[in-house]
Amino acid sequence: MTSPGPGKQTAAEQEAGRQRIAGIKHRILVLSGKGGVGKSSVAANLVLALAAQGRRVGLLDVDVHGPSIPRILGVDGFPAELAGPDRASALLQTIPVTDRLRVMSLGFLLENRDTAVIWRGPMKYSVIKQFIEDVDWGELDYLVVDSPPGTGDEPLSVAQLLGTPAHAVVVTTPQELSLADVRRCVTFCRKVQVSLLGLVENMSGFVCPHCGGKTDIFKSGGGRKLAAEMNVPFLGSIPLDPRLVEAADAGTAYLERFPDTETARAFQHIVKAVVTAAEPE
Ligand code: ADP
Repeated sequence: MTSPGPGKQTAAEQEAGRQRIAGIKHRILVLSGKGGVGKSSVAANLVLALAAQGRRVGLLDVDVHGPSIPRILGVDGFPAELAGPDRASALLQTIPVTDRLRVMSLGFLLENRDTAVIWRGPMKYSVIKQFIEDVDWGELDYLVVDSPPGTGDEPLSVAQLLGTPAHAVVVTTPQELSLADVRRCVTFCRKVQVSLLGLVENMSGFVCPHCGGKTDIFKSGGGRKLAAEMNVPFLGSIPLDPRLVEAADAGTAYLERFPDTETARAFQHIVKAVVTAAEPE
């Protein structure tokens, strides 16, 4: 991949950018083999739960193909730029969701939410780089990154710019579960030295909100089996719940609105597993 070069930044500013990221205790990449499997939903609910537990959390939505975090969390705004006295380029200011949760999304910079992002590789790289290194996150316990899907150039740039140590959560669905897909994500994590916290199987069965009965629409259980076969942790299965779509469309936090559903309990179980893996005693 071609790098666009450092632009107007000095070497000291680039180093400062790397240090800003390196200073964040826990960096977690949310990855998936392809789009539409619930990667952003997992990332959004993960940060909401971490913030609700009292942690200071940042969510970076760098999914250049479909930055959906502003819609899911119901936040909007245009990030202000803060130029320091000695800086050639400005730092982007995050948008607060609560006092413990702040967000930066490519979606904030698009003219409208239906705008398609048509950029060539070097342009995407330079945007990803700016989003990772030139954002004023302040003091954070966790930075969760909603990565572009797949294992190509864009998630590779994200992983490399995040630096080490970083952790990853891989989201998949039962019907697209193929050894090849998940193996690619696992190989990707090893290659970029990101430690894989585990696999999440989303859209795993449907729990009827009326009778409570469960139907395995896309089958289920494949994620657990695959994780065992590949010797990676299995973090949990999240059932389909139409109220998750409803909450996302309304920009309200699903976990707060529907805390007693099986899907919310599944999210909380995954968050617990992530925290245990990221913060071993
Ligand atoms: P991705 O980030 O992988 O592209 P999204 O998180 O945007 O996927 O999810 C795609 C769509 O599926 C969204 O409309 C979202 O609300 C919906 N969705 C995701 N997970 C679930 C679930 N467990 N139950 C119901 N709908 C879901």
